[in-house]
Order: sequence, then C-alpha cells, then structure tokens
Amino acid sequence: MKKITSIKTRITIWYTTLMFVLIVVVLSLVGGLSYQLSIDSVEKDVILQVTQVRESLSKRQPGVFEIIESKEEFKNVSIYEMDGKYLVGQYNYDVVNIPFEEGVPRKENIDGKEYIVYDARTPGPPGRHGGFWIRGVESVSSTILLGRSAIIIMLILIPLILLLTALGGYYITKRAFRPVNNIIKTANEISAQNDIKQRIELNPEAKQDEMYDLSVTLNHMLDKIENLIKQEKQFTSDASHELRTPISVILAQGEYLLDIAENEKEKELAQNIVDKANQVSKLVSRLLLLARIDQSRQKINKEKVDLSVLFDIAADSMKALAEQKSIVLLTNAEENTIVDADESLLLSAITNLVSNGIKYGKEGGHVMLSAVKSANGIEIVVSDNGIGISAENIDKIWKRFYRVDDVRNDEYGSSGLGLSMVKSIVELHSGEISVKSELGKGTEFRIILNS
Ligand code: ADP
Repeated sequence: MKKITSIKTRITIWYTTLMFVLIVVVLSLVGGLSYQLSIDSVEKDVILQVTQVRESLSKRQPGVFEIIESKEEFKNVSIYEMDGKYLVGQYNYDVVNIPFEEGVPRKENIDGKEYIVYDARTPGPPGRHGGFWIRGVESVSSTILLGRSAIIIMLILIPLILLLTALGGYYITKRAFRPVNNIIKTANEISAQNDIKQRIELNPEAKQDEMYDLSVTLNHMLDKIENLIKQEKQFTSDASHELRTPISVILAQGEYLLDIAENEKEKELAQNIVDKANQVSKLVSRLLLLARIDQSRQKINKEKVDLSVLFDIAADSMKALAEQKSIVLLTNAEENTIVDADESLLLSAITNLVSNGIKYGKEGGHVMLSAVKSANGIEIVVSDNGIGISAENIDKIWKRFYRVDDVRNDEYGSSGLGLSMVKSIVELHSGEISVKSELGKGTEFRIILNS
C-alpha cells in the first residue's frame, strides 16, 4: 500500500531538519572559532608575560625574581637554570619535566588538563655562567570549560528549539491548510450527493491569503459549471418540447396513411412510420420528464394509491406485449396496500419495469409484481426469470442512454432512458430503488417507498 504523508508533515519535517542542520553548523562554527580565539588570547598573554620578564632580566634590573614572586601579572612565569633546575615562579614538577623549546608556543597535556607552554632564554646577569630559561605556563581549561558548558547548553537548547519550531510550524501550516480540507469536503459532498449547488465555505474573518483566493476561484468555477448544466437541461427541455408537435403530426399522418394504404407494401411503410414516430414520441416524453425532474419543475401530486389497483392497471396495459412472448404476468399485492405517491408517475415507473421484464424475459417465462409492507415502508418488487444482467453491467443500467446490448435492444425500440426515468421518479418520492440480477436466471427490481 502506498504510504500517504500529508504536506503538513512533510513541510514540518523538512524545515525542522533544515533548522537542526543550520543550528549545528552555526554553533559548531561559532564554538570552534571562539575556542581558537581563546587559545590565541591565552598564547598572546603567556608570550607577553614571558617577554616582559626576559626584558627585565636582560636589563639586569634588580629584584626581578621578587617581582615574579609577588606580582599577580607574572603568576604564570617561572625561571629555571639552563640545566632545568627550578629557581623561582610557578612551581610545578610536571611543568619542569617538559623539555624546553625556545620561542614556540605549544599545547601540553598535564594531568588531563591542557596548558599553553612558552619558553624563552636569556643570558642572565653578568658574571653568571649560562643564562636562564623563562617559562610561561597558562591553563586553557577555563576556556575548554566554557566550551563544554556551551555544548551542554546547546544539547539542551537544540531539542527544545527544534520542538518549539516543529510544533509552531505544524500549527501554522495546519491553519494555512484548513481551507484545503474544506475544498476536499465540498468536492466529496458534490460527488457523493450529485449536488453541484454546494459551495466551499468561506470564512470572511479568515486571512484573505492564496488559499482563500483558491476557494473563491473554485466557487466561481462551480457557479459556471452549475450554469452550464442548467443551460444544458434547459436545452433538453426546450428541444423535447419543440419536438412534441412535429412528432404528433408525423404520428397522426402516419396513422392516416396506414388507414388509406392500398397494398401490403404501402401498409408496411406506413406502419414503420407509425412505429418509429411512437418510439420517438416516447423518447421525447421521457426526456421531458427527466428534464423537469432535474430542474425541480416536475409537479408531484401525492395521493393515497392502492397498489393492488395500480398493479392491475399496469398488468392490463402490458398484457398484449406479454402475450406476444407467452409471458405470464403475476400480481401479488394485498388489498389496501396503500402508498402515498403520484399515481400517474408511479404507474409509469412500474409499467416501465414490467415492460423491461417482458422485453428481456424468456418465451413462456413470467413477470411478477408484488408489494409487501416492511419496517422501511412499502416494498414493491418487479421480478422476472429472463436473460438477467451481468455483474459487470449492473451498475451501468441506471445511466441515461445506456443499453447492455445495443443491437438486440434496437429490436425492442429501446432508448436506454427507461431505468433512469424510473430511478428519478422513485427519488422524487424520496424512495430507493435497487436491483439484483443473475445472468441467464432473471432480474429483480425493488422499490422502497414510505407508506
Ligand atoms: P431500455 O430502453 O434499453 O430498456 P432501460 O433504461 O430500461 O433502457 O434499461 C437499460 C438496460 O438495462 C437495458 O438495455 C437492458 O439491457 C437492461 N435491463 C433493464 N431491465 C432488464 C431486465 N428486467 N432484464 C434484463 N436486462 C434488463
């Protein structure tokens, strides 16, 4: 399965990592630089002290040894004989054991601590053999200690800063992305409820940023789409309306031609005109009804409808068609199974299902109409033992103009609008319709209506 990481999380991870790298790089540079500067300043200090003592000694000033012993500023300087014997100053065995090296400041490790050591030589006062070694020794441990505490502070501060950055950043991105959730919610609602009227909620108090602009733009786009759909529905409605009169004329004149036909050929041609005109007339009425329902213009005159009566009417109107295929029409509704519905619309929906049962039924088969009261309301079931619908096609049968088998359905004068009309009528009654079918065995349509 593909792992989904939200943009919020990705942005937070990205800048937190970047922040971490930046902090570490900057602190390491600053830390390293300040350490080097401290070492440099210790070195300078030691060299200065040693140089001052050497100058005093070379000028043979009296009392130099005393100055070294007493003055605070020379506390890091010691004087040795040329053979290394300690004379005065800082006394330290370990320091004495470090070999002398003139004029080279260097780092030495004594008892685990770092020192800067600097040696200078002076000839010493006249009359004295050899001269003196002057050694300056100063600890850098205080500098290191400073560095260490900086590292400890860094180790505590970095996670804290990172945590605050991550939390703060996540909160800001979450707020910034809130409109996206609204957009997703609206898009899902539009596709789930097939309701293009929905719009993305806009908070007038929210910051009018890019996300706000995006929501406004999408809402404008939805306005345009809604208008286009409205225009298209209006066009279907207008076109169907305009077609009604010419079709009626063609039908009437076709029927007249059929009456006056003088031979078989003329009769056949006239019959063909009548059949096709009837087919187009049915198609146009369905289109008109669908357009009206789509535009919420279809009036619905609800009344108490007795289903046993309605079933009889439907069966009667389909009797002739059923007989052509020796199909038996069975009805099974208790008397007084009453439903609150528009009688003519419900009749047209049920007749349509029965007509399908016959069209797609087998010779000598049956179509059964039944009604039962259930906890959900009244259930109307129209079932047949006909050719059935494959699982692959079953979800598509509600689509407008969809026909499972174009060539064969042409024989029946099918339009592919019947079931979409039935569904629209049921939904207009706030009911539900479902289908179960098995290829080669039969089909069952179930309508649930409020009683
Ligand atoms: P049509 O005018 O083609 O009958 P419908 O919308 O009524 O249009 O039906 C759509 C398609 O569903 C039909 O073309 C047919 O293939 C299939 N269908 C509908 N009812 C049945 C049924 N009772 N048995 C088998 N197939 C059916």
